[in-house]
Amino acid sequence: MRIALTGGIACGKSTAASFFGKHGCRVISTDALARELMESPPIIEHLRERFGAGIFGADGSVSRHDLGEIIFADKRERLWLENLLHPAINARWIAQVDAGENECWVVEIPLLFEKKLETHFDFSICVHCADSTQMSRMAARGLDAREVECRLRAQWSLEEKMHRATVCLFNEGTPLFLEQQICALLACLPQTPPFTFPSTFYKACPLTKLPPTPPLA
Ligand code: ADP
Repeated sequence: MRIALTGGIACGKSTAASFFGKHGCRVISTDALARELMESPPIIEHLRERFGAGIFGADGSVSRHDLGEIIFADKRERLWLENLLHPAINARWIAQVDAGENECWVVEIPLLFEKKLETHFDFSICVHCADSTQMSRMAARGLDAREVECRLRAQWSLEEKMHRATVCLFNEGTPLFLEQQICALLACLPQTPPFTFPSTFYKACPLTKLPPTPPLA
């Protein structure tokens, strides 16, 4: 089974991913794959040519913060970086998932819908929380108001992601509440194909079923 995990920035995707891992799923973080790739010499060379030495820290590694400053301020640079990294990232997780057909895979992909990757999965999950909670979690990462705005503008809205996802998990309150939703979901999943999303989950977790909304522009 293949489950895609997405959601807004700092809404709790990684927290949810770690709970899926704790409860027996094979988890892949595309962010972690991006970090790994950015340590490979050929990628480092491309980055140095494009952005100069200023994005490297004293130890020679890429400063995610300094690179973020550039790419979130300039869409052209962001697309250039995505074109450099995404094909290799996608090839890696697709190969891993293909090699483990009998496992329950959860792949965390922040830009799942923006990059039209949802067709690789049996169903998709969007982790969401209140706007005010998202803002305070982003601020806790040390992002100021301008950086928050740039990062939010670089993605589709949380509402759009929630609309497109098969199911939404509500990460407000304690992490335990999120873990309980994930346990309830795992308990409902079919054990054999077809791996369609189990509507029984909505009975177990009525909060996750949102009223239908019209498509957003
Ligand atoms: P994402 O992967 O979507 O960017 P994270 O899972 O990293 O988000 O969560 C963002 C921050 O919020 C992290 O510091 C995490 O520990 C914290 N966090 C996540 N869920 C909760 C929660 N339910 N209660 C309190 N803090 C949380």
